[in-house]
Amino acid sequence: MCLKSVMRVLLMALCTIAAVQARSDEVCGFELPARPDPEPLKKADFADIPRSNQQRQQWIRERWADKCDELILLPVRVEGRLFSNLICRLEGQTEDTLLITAHFDRAGSGEGVADNWTGIRLADRLLDWFTTHRPYRSVELVALAGEEAGMQGSRAWVRERFSSRYRVVMNLDTLGLDDLKIESNAPPLHCLATALADRHNIPLSGQHVRALESDFDSFKRAGLPGIHLHSVGKRGKQLIHTSRDRVEAVDFRKLNQALLLAVHLGQTLSAPQVAADEMARQQPDARP
Ligand SMILES: [Zn+2]
Repeated sequence: MCLKSVMRVLLMALCTIAAVQARSDEVCGFELPARPDPEPLKKADFADIPRSNQQRQQWIRERWADKCDELILLPVRVEGRLFSNLICRLEGQTEDTLLITAHFDRAGSGEGVADNWTGIRLADRLLDWFTTHRPYRSVELVALAGEEAGMQGSRAWVRERFSSRYRVVMNLDTLGLDDLKIESNAPPLHCLATALADRHNIPLSGQHVRALESDFDSFKRAGLPGIHLHSVGKRGKQLIHTSRDRVEAVDFRKLNQALLLAVHLGQTLSAPQVAADEMARQQPDARP
């Protein structure tokens, strides 16, 4: 082989390596799909928030009815009254399911905007996003009842519905008050969330701060690997469940940072992933 052909073969090999590297964008063992960002949330999206928990449930039910492949109502009794978890299924090419949850109930004297209409509006945007960018894995979005009354909705979901097809959960609760905070019971997920935040210039604060009790605790107890996104720091703890939890308390720049991270996490965790399967196997807690 002359020197010229050796050089040509070498050049071709180098080009192939470069092409493969450009194609596979991987962090923390997860392949990152490249898909468009979501449409940001605006203050106008929070103009007419239903007041009572019944009205909130009805609002979501009407809004989600036509968007889901199937909308399932799971009854939940909360302090003597009957509510429902609203379960929105989007079927992928596999039974394996990414669970996305946010509670819709409010408590105390406030309007329950940050806690947790922000989580509901994020879940709704994720639903819109997934209906235009169909996921490979199935996605189940759940608007949970009765979080403020002892996590009744998430407890009921775990009791009635949890099975091995659920691989990962992402819980959204009280966003846009402060820099985004993440909690996770699975190191690969924590790694993924921090890497994605870094990539999209999303500041994270108190990454290892213990969150207030939330629906995420119900899923953790069940042994489901997951990630909890919230923004409750010192200020948030004093604000939620009071009359100061109004739309004026929400920083929309920070809220949209949470939305951006949730969409990137959602698209990554609903893509075909080897790492996620590995992670599920490594979970110490037994599944039912
Ligand atoms: Zn909450």
